[in-house]
Amino acid sequence: MSTKFATFQIRTAFGVWSFALLVSCLTMVISNRLVWVLFPAEDYVFTAVLAAFITFVITLPVCMYIGLKIRENTSLSDELVRLVNRDRLTDVATRDFFFERMDKNPESYGVSLMVDIDHFKMVNDTYGHFAGDDVIKHVSQLLRKETRENDVICRFGGEEFVVFLHEVSGDQGQVIAERMRVSVQTAPALSDGVKVGVTVSIGGSLKERLSDINISIQQADAALYRAKENGRNQTVVDWEVVPLEALEEAKGKLVS
Ligand code: GH3
Ligand code: MG
Ligand code: MG
Repeated sequence: MSTKFATFQIRTAFGVWSFALLVSCLTMVISNRLVWVLFPAEDYVFTAVLAAFITFVITLPVCMYIGLKIRENTSLSDELVRLVNRDRLTDVATRDFFFERMDKNPESYGVSLMVDIDHFKMVNDTYGHFAGDDVIKHVSQLLRKETRENDVICRFGGEEFVVFLHEVSGDQGQVIAERMRVSVQTAPALSDGVKVGVTVSIGGSLKERLSDINISIQQADAALYRAKENGRNQTVVDWEVVPLEALEEAKGKLVS
């Protein structure tokens, strides 16, 4: 059930106080009007002050209690939304949230990147599953560092991430993908004091306005497959590769 009241939210102590004082004042106004209608004019001042006092003393604590309960519910519903939308291990978006967000913005255009940790099974086999988890977390943090506020990064599967770079050109997307790849290569994860170095392979594709994000992801996945085939630890994009000088120029235009 979703009612207007159910969506009423309070997040701060200030909100609780404002809610309680506002409702208390409204109740005092109503009690004052009732006194005006129900009691003789000569008793009005005394009765109105008494009624206002009694109303305030009763209503304020009750409204404070209700306000605190609404704040508690708001914080629980915020947490629920976070649990549904964020991946527990990495705190990046879940796959469902990614598609939900992309579906809501069909006009969005940019670059889709599919990022996969190379030979990750070997990491698990060599260092154990918990170290593997630390590596996944570490890689997600490095990827996040290279993205901006309105880009979307999600954990697509076990050791696979999808990053959508909003409103960037192919050249710029290629630069960002390379930055991600190099940062993973050069910064090993630390698990229980042990350095665990990994690399990633990245596949990239373009998404035009109003085009299907699923197609773009499939193209990025196909490019990723080529990166794996070509020997891993590299970026392969499904558009025409630009020369190095043009890449440098695109790098200059990027807001870091
Ligand atoms: P490739 O370079 O071809 O990508 O090889 P790979 O070993 O990375 O890929 P593969 O698909 O063979 O193995 C992925 C492994 O990732 C297998 C699975 O056990 C592991 N994995 C998936 N999810 C998690 C997770 O949440 N934590 C840990 N530690 N391992 C995971
Ligand atoms: Mg892998
Ligand atoms: Mg994989």
